[in-house]
Amino acid sequence: AVSLVGQKHVADFFQQKNELASCIPAITNTRREALRRYAIVAEAQKAEYIWLDGQEGLKGFRFNEIRTKTRCLQKALPVGSSEFPDWSFDGSSTGQMDQGNNSDCILKPVFSCPDPIRGGNSVLVLCEVLSPEGTPHRTNQRRLLADLLTDEIQAQDSWFGFEQEYTLFARDGHPYGWPPAGYPAPQGPFYCGVGLEAVYGRQFVEAHFDACVKAGLKISGINAEVMPGQWEFQIGPTGPLEMGDHVMVARYLLHRLGEDFGVIATFDPKPIQGDWNGAGAHTNFSTKAMREEGGMVEIMKAIEKLSKTHKEHIAEYGHGNEKRLTGKHETASMDTFRAGVADRGASIRIPLPVSLANKGYLEDRRPAANVNPYVVARMLIQSTLLN
Ligand code: ADP
Ligand code: MN
Ligand code: MN
Ligand code: MN
Ligand code: MN
Repeated sequence: AVSLVGQKHVADFFQQKNELASCIPAITNTRREALRRYAIVAEAQKAEYIWLDGQEGLKGFRFNEIRTKTRCLQKALPVGSSEFPDWSFDGSSTGQMDQGNNSDCILKPVFSCPDPIRGGNSVLVLCEVLSPEGTPHRTNQRRLLADLLTDEIQAQDSWFGFEQEYTLFARDGHPYGWPPAGYPAPQGPFYCGVGLEAVYGRQFVEAHFDACVKAGLKISGINAEVMPGQWEFQIGPTGPLEMGDHVMVARYLLHRLGEDFGVIATFDPKPIQGDWNGAGAHTNFSTKAMREEGGMVEIMKAIEKLSKTHKEHIAEYGHGNEKRLTGKHETASMDTFRAGVADRGASIRIPLPVSLANKGYLEDRRPAANVNPYVVARMLIQSTLLN
């Protein structure tokens, strides 16, 4: 189970040791012992366990809600293994349990991929959180979604494409790349911009893009956003659980790489007041029937259903979203439901290519950037496929 990459690291390391050792009189037994020890190390595997905490909305929007800790497995398991062991953590330190003498929560591995930062045979292990009794914790939105996916629902083959917007800040909380005092030029040249005067933070964004690709996530693209220092990556299209899992790991990589680059990525829906775009998480959604010839009929039916559950969706679509869904800055007001072709001021947009092909998908523009991706998928499935 030792990957070649892991062995190469050890070989390189040992090569360096050999070079060092050649300056020192060789002590054969010590070197043999060392060889044996490094071979054992090569079998080991660093597994980064990742989960969502219970601080949603409590800590302020600048803080992410992802927690991680590392477990060193003495014998490496293949990526995707169902054998990554359960683990536990102190739920009283993450807003998931009351202080007290019974505060452990259980981590249940549900998805794993290569760790592009540590490399070698290291892995990222995304977990669901369970209560001590082994039941899903109240913060476990993934399980609520999974429970919804009956054979009947699965047969409709729903796909999701998640557009994750985020905003970069410097360590001191200043918008990344903005002049020390005052503001950059008004919005206009920044969206999909190129050039030093228009683009803030591309090196970091490219590093994150690379990391997602190396981890094997279904990332479908990136772009600079309307507000300078604001960016987007897209995950999908893929099934509901996989969409959520890949978004969670991509968010983890964003925060983790931010440590190395000295930038903070926030999902605050309205990070800067005034004439600056907020940050959303447009969610593109389709079923098999919508993707087939003439699927527009199905898309319209889904939109009709969504018009009836607007309030319920808004209630679950992220914290502070009322500051973003004002009817300005390419949004529809949260008090109204509106759908339209190529309409970026609508709640639901039918992309122009979809309208031309008369089939495809719809875009739900309402979710805030800090929304839980499993919740969006659940709400869309509940409203359009169960009703
Ligand atoms: P926008 O023009 O709104 O910025 P993007 O290109 O950023 O659109 O995102 C569109 C998303 O739609 C992509 O993430 C893609 O994965 C997703 N997508 C494409 N086709 C489908 C489909 N049939 N069902 C669901 N999502 C889809
Ligand atoms: Mn401790
Ligand atoms: Mn987009
Ligand atoms: Mn966008
Ligand atoms: Mn969009």
